[in-house]
Amino acid sequence: MQLRIAQTVPDTEAEGPGKRFALWVQGCTLGCAGCFNPATHDPRGGELWAVADLAARLAGDEFAALLTGLDDVGVAGWYQRLAERFRYELDTFGLDLHTSLSAGQTWLCVGTEDSLNQALVRADRALYEAKARGRGQLVQEDAPATE
Ligand code: SF4
Repeated sequence: MQLRIAQTVPDTEAEGPGKRFALWVQGCTLGCAGCFNPATHDPRGGELWAVADLAARLAGDEFAALLTGLDDVGVAGWYQRLAERFRYELDTFGLDLHTSLSAGQTWLCVGTEDSLNQALVRADRALYEAKARGRGQLVQEDAPATE
């Protein structure tokens, strides 16, 4: 399967809240009054990409999720559901890709000198350890000792 891609922007804040990857497909037939992107209308324009290539080009994204109210078992379950959903979405598109989801988890210690930046550094370190272990790995820091 192929898609005709008009343009991609790897890092934009103009297409909604926060930074995001943006992709425009080619061959729009909607004909909106005052179209702001007529360059996307020509069905022969843009560039043909195989859908599998598209998924591969989008791979490698990293993101952070701030979870509350979960212990280490709950985080592991959350990660498992996320990985299953990721696989389900790829399967829905019929993408037979060798992709996986790795994660590093840390704790943000409220009421201490800990900061979000420090927690992100620890989560990043755990993520790279997960990647070093192989595909589809979760590395969890030990939970902080409770008093
Ligand atoms: S604004 Fe232009 S490109 Fe966007 S949907 Fe309408 S006709 Fe298509």
